[in-house]
Amino acid sequence: MATLEFLGAVGEVTGSRYRIRLDDEAGEILLECGLHQGGPGADKANRESLAGLAKGLSAVVLSHGHLDHAGLLPKLVRDGYRGPIHCTRGTQALLEIMLSDAATVMDRDTAWQNRRRGNKADRVEPVYDMDDVVRTLQQCVGHGYGKPVELPGGVRLVFRDAGHILGSASVDLAIPSGGRDCRLVFSGDLGNPDSVLMREPETLRDADVVLMESTYGDRDHRPADETLKEFQQVLEDAQEAGGNVLIPAFAVGRTQEILYHLSRLYHAGKLPQQRIFLDSPMAIRVTELYAEWRDLLDEDDLKILHELADGDPARYLPGLRRTKTVEESQAISRVKGGAIIIAGAGMCSGGRILHHLHEQLGKRATRVVIVGFQAEGTLGRQLVDGAESVRILGDTIDVRASIHTIGGFSAHAGQSQLLAWVGAFRDRPRVYLVHGEPGAQAALQAKLAASEIDARIPEPGESIML
Ligand SMILES: [Zn+2]
Repeated sequence: MATLEFLGAVGEVTGSRYRIRLDDEAGEILLECGLHQGGPGADKANRESLAGLAKGLSAVVLSHGHLDHAGLLPKLVRDGYRGPIHCTRGTQALLEIMLSDAATVMDRDTAWQNRRRGNKADRVEPVYDMDDVVRTLQQCVGHGYGKPVELPGGVRLVFRDAGHILGSASVDLAIPSGGRDCRLVFSGDLGNPDSVLMREPETLRDADVVLMESTYGDRDHRPADETLKEFQQVLEDAQEAGGNVLIPAFAVGRTQEILYHLSRLYHAGKLPQQRIFLDSPMAIRVTELYAEWRDLLDEDDLKILHELADGDPARYLPGLRRTKTVEESQAISRVKGGAIIIAGAGMCSGGRILHHLHEQLGKRATRVVIVGFQAEGTLGRQLVDGAESVRILGDTIDVRASIHTIGGFSAHAGQSQLLAWVGAFRDRPRVYLVHGEPGAQAALQAKLAASEIDARIPEPGESIML
């Protein structure tokens, strides 16, 4: 029998990793190779050797380009993996940006740590470097949605649109096991059908085993129109108060979605701010990539944008300034009010947003808009949880700004949407909940039980028969 082993993203939302051992020693396939992010043990977990894992693998399959799913691939390659990494073409394009950025951040972090240590004897090495990233990208093989791909050991792979970010997929595998094929479907991260630019997650009907993400297993997002109203209200308040709006944004997906909404507000004459700074070189590049891969996006949303701007992309959002250089970014600090500043990182765990928060969190007129999931242990989570003061760049900053969590912009399916997705399978597959914090998973498990779907929450390292 083939088996599936839960190596990561079990009882947490990062570090996604699952190993499939094939029948008859036909090798192993790794599903995802995600970075551990946030929390005290993350760095240590990222540094664990993957050499043993790499040795047995004949293929790697990747659902999408977010680092919590793909961010340890260069480490796997550094530790010896030389085989193919299968993903969609959109993901392949995105990986170049994501992994290069990750390596750059690691390089900067380790240089900083080594400067502090001073002593040559206990210098730290980055988890991986740009050479590893280049090699990883060379090993990537891009595929279209819905096209069967033959993997070693007679395994058939099909990517299905998961509607989460550019190139995102659910992974549909037919795996020979004990004389028959076991259909294993991994949801990947499922998109929020209410969100703009992405298509709806594809519904699948046939599976023997389903691995489903459960990030928002405990709640529904607010409906799209309420979310937009809420967002608009915050923008108006900030303008009245004379402050800036800071949006810690995830470079991929959320940023493009927010720009889309800002564009629509602008063309409706409802955008009070004249200046919008996209203060993230990575988000700028990803936004260009979204434009390049527009064929993968939702046609109706693009049509609306196109018509509003009379077909001229320069008119999508005329107040938009893309600040690529550090000097341009620093110059934003001269803007005391009336601007929207979109800067990474999305969970405030690093990046240019730190400087803006450092400067503006102490002002009552500032509005911070949280638009995505904040993992435990991150600065973003502290803000969401109502911290009265926080440490930023070595200083203690009193939080006087208003913090607004606008959950409806989530790129993840909410509870009802997860229930609908998994409820669409025929013949009661075995369901396992992954990629969620324990509370969210327990809530989702209880909801599923009420619909007579028996879902299990696997233990780290647990193996199941396929
Ligand atoms: Zn994701």
